Amino acid sequence: PFRALWIDKTDASGYSCALTELPDERLPAGDVTVQVAYSTLNYKDALAITGRSPVVRQFPMVPGIDLAGTVLASDDGRFRPGDAVLLNGWGVGEVHWGGLAQRARVRADWLQPLPAPLSAWDAMAIGTAGYTAALCVQALQAHWAAQGVAPGSGEVLVTGAAGGVGSIAVVLLARAGHRVVASTGRVQEAEYLRQLGAAEVIDRATLAAPGKPLQKERWIGVVDAVGSHTLANACASTRYGGAVAACGLAQGMDLPATVAPFILRGVTLYGIDSVMAPMPRRQAAWALLAQTLDHATLQSLSRTIGLAEAIDAASAVLAGQVRGRLVVDVNT
Ligand code: NAP
Repeated sequence: PFRALWIDKTDASGYSCALTELPDERLPAGDVTVQVAYSTLNYKDALAITGRSPVVRQFPMVPGIDLAGTVLASDDGRFRPGDAVLLNGWGVGEVHWGGLAQRARVRADWLQPLPAPLSAWDAMAIGTAGYTAALCVQALQAHWAAQGVAPGSGEVLVTGAAGGVGSIAVVLLARAGHRVVASTGRVQEAEYLRQLGAAEVIDRATLAAPGKPLQKERWIGVVDAVGSHTLANACASTRYGGAVAACGLAQGMDLPATVAPFILRGVTLYGIDSVMAPMPRRQAAWALLAQTLDHATLQSLSRTIGLAEAIDAASAVLAGQVRGRLVVDVNT
């Protein structure tokens, strides 16, 4: 048997998440069985565990959109018992049992070999949040390369900076030579953000309210994890020819913007999805992460909790109280 978080919906109102023990025979169909070492708690996992948003689309469900561990058994030639593997997204933890468990059975197509020199813990300190930050940074880098914009030629804004996506975006951009401006609602985390590489920390209140369609040109690029007015203001203050990578909705799903930045300043808005991103894009993102993030940096931006603790931690994530990343040790 193995331990797992278990989400059930008994009736229209009864939504529950609890720690349970399941026999191996209950594992869903799949080509590869994985002994999970670590999983994570992303914003989406917090929505799933609390039931705050309809992330889970099949019941009962084992949540967890990320996992890292070792192959126990495989019916697919690409993976053998003992291989170290990683998984992000693909609907795992939403429509297929996920990583917040000691064991998972998944499709071989969804697995990636753990990229050296990262450990399973390192990979989960990065998790979907960090991998999404890398997708955002690479979209901006491809844009800048095409436009002939050099690192250091202007400022880059990261919103939701003290969160998971934001923290890792700050590190990746700073280490690529950019002047990073970190927007946060937690000004007490300014020192943390400077240590990650932010050159300046601004209060997110300056971006949170309705603003003018065109504002003073400031950013050559933006990584936005927040959406809503923050994303609209970010677009309105992006420099001529610059780009914005939108990946999140922590402030809201709405986009109360005008077309002015796009048609008058040639600003480009990139939409970033991690869940169904094709494998070559994932591999490129993980190569950047493995090359840029060392263990000490990952330790400085994450905290490790046990499987049962993940239930209470989910509310803290949604309340915006968690700094950086939460790694879940599924064996404690
Ligand atoms: P997280 O760790 O909870 O970070 C979210 C951050 O957003 C918070 O730390 C906070 O940063 C900021 N924030 C929260 N509420 C806010 C509000 N009302 N107004 C303005 N800012 C607010 O979550 P995460 O895992 O990094 O995910 C961030 C977002 O990206 C989520 O919306 C998530 O769903 C999305 N996401 C999307 C993808 C994708 O594939 N597109 C993948 C991963 C994540 P400060 O405290 O610094 O202000």
